[in-house]
Amino acid sequence: MPHDTTLIATIVAGLGLAFVFGALANRFRIPPLVGYLVAGVLVGPNTPGFVADQALAQQLAEIGVILLMFGVGLHFSLKDLLSVRAIAVPGAIVQIAFATVLGLCLSWAMGWTVGAGLVFGLALSVASTVVLLRALQERRMVDTERGRITVGWLIVEDLAMVLALVLLPALAGVLGGQETAERAPDIFALRFDFGVWGVVAITLAKVAAFVIVMVVFGRRLIPWILHYVAHTGSRELFRLAVLAIALGVAFGAANLFGVSLALGAFFAGMIMSESELSHRAAEESLPLRDAFSVLFFVSVGMLFDPSTLIDNPGPIFGTLFIILVGKSVAAFLIVIAFGYPVATALIISASLAQIGEFSFILAELGLSLNLLPQEGRDLILGGAILSIVLNPAMFYLAGRLRPWIESRMGKEPIEEPKPVAPATEPGKVATTAIAPKEEGDAPLPTRLAGHTILIGYGRVGALVGKSLREAGLPFLVIEDAQKTIAKLKADGIETISGNAAKNEVFSAANPSLARRLILAIPNAFESGKIIRRARALNPGIMVIARAHTDAEVDHLKSLGATSVIMGEREIARGIVEHVMEAEALKKGAPATVS
Ligand code: AMP
Repeated sequence: MPHDTTLIATIVAGLGLAFVFGALANRFRIPPLVGYLVAGVLVGPNTPGFVADQALAQQLAEIGVILLMFGVGLHFSLKDLLSVRAIAVPGAIVQIAFATVLGLCLSWAMGWTVGAGLVFGLALSVASTVVLLRALQERRMVDTERGRITVGWLIVEDLAMVLALVLLPALAGVLGGQETAERAPDIFALRFDFGVWGVVAITLAKVAAFVIVMVVFGRRLIPWILHYVAHTGSRELFRLAVLAIALGVAFGAANLFGVSLALGAFFAGMIMSESELSHRAAEESLPLRDAFSVLFFVSVGMLFDPSTLIDNPGPIFGTLFIILVGKSVAAFLIVIAFGYPVATALIISASLAQIGEFSFILAELGLSLNLLPQEGRDLILGGAILSIVLNPAMFYLAGRLRPWIESRMGKEPIEEPKPVAPATEPGKVATTAIAPKEEGDAPLPTRLAGHTILIGYGRVGALVGKSLREAGLPFLVIEDAQKTIAKLKADGIETISGNAAKNEVFSAANPSLARRLILAIPNAFESGKIIRRARALNPGIMVIARAHTDAEVDHLKSLGATSVIMGEREIARGIVEHVMEAEALKKGAPATVS
């Protein structure tokens, strides 16, 4: 080759193959991320053929993690984080402790040292941000209460891992490992002089310093920069500002304060979300974020050596058991103990039953400190890949187990057996117990018939709903934003919570007996899917849909919409009406205008 093109080759091969295998996976109804992982294994060093640069791929993946955490920060206000601390903090701590103990047990059975077991167990205890967010986004759960608890829980886990990364080198000697060779002896001595608790204190001080800098300076500086750039009117500069701030804060946090890149990016996003421009900022970073999170999965696949699994399957089963079963049971019990519904506990358990990027970082550190044997890293990698691939199955299982667990528990709050229901026959489960708030559950079918189904209750749907109500027409609303659902319920309007594009949500609205379907959502792809299903269930239903382009109008009509209202056309009509009215007034009363 004329010059070094490793970076380009890595990006092209990574994205290209990820696309091919992602599309293939999608064709077979498997989550596309399985395809990305397979693409990674294929360009990795453990399979024949082209081998992409592993170190570069990992750095590219790291950018994906930064952008993802930045996105989470944008959607996550400090208020939300504090509102879930009561469950997220104890939940994460107990789960980490439980997984670490299980990891220690398994490593003890394999004859490893306590230090190795500790690193191994810790690595198995922390879930992957990328996998978790993808799972929540796919199910539109980021903004639900469950989503907030899970993300808060994950942030506490991340914080604990930041601490572990700093503490491990200091404790390596005590745990039977070695200090890293490259560390200068004088720095080592200096560090060691502080003692273990000194190191803990320094770490905490660094994190605190970072938070203070962000809250005191970042909070003023970042919105100021964004407002300044917004006033220049340049979209390109604005995009650049958002990216520069996200990456810059993450990098600065990691290098100046020893905080993880992900956590730094999270804070940058959180600070930005306080400014009104946050939504624009979020949209600007979306396409890049998606591309880089794909590279994350490819880079994980690259590290995988399938032969280790086949040679010695026992330990990998043990590892997988800890990740899938051990962690889930711990999370489930904690969430239930806090009085949340079974569905919430199951979703949180399923979301966290996987491991990812932090586990790899810990494994690398463990190896370099001579704490973890090579086999440990392979097990962590194998466990990560298998648990990521099996994650959708965990969500499926959670949905399947729910009715069974609920009937076993009679939906009673588990922590205090209050004298709720009168005693039923011995052996029978009381079913009249108070059910705690159930948000986002599989919806109950409506009793309405001959009604109107209104999908989406935002700027458009709310106005439509108001008129339907005034006209006395029976209707129900399908909406997936929890805040809107709460408001609708307070107003006494029948609602179905969830994504209407999902069959079980839509079916609950009884479309086969409905008279009219109004799609007041902005996404034509989702509307198209819903229309097709509505037509199949009820050929005579009247369908009115919303669109924003001519192509969308055609698409929705071809799928069976009775009428499609294009927003932009109506806006133009409104504007023209105003102009004509003003002109007519001028013509009609020329004398008054002198
Ligand atoms: P607006 O664009 O302001 O009219 O808002 C659209 C509304 O539709 C928002 O409240 C969204 O939460 C809601 N929405 C969008 N897509 C869906 C969907 N697939 N299922 C249910 N609600 C949706």
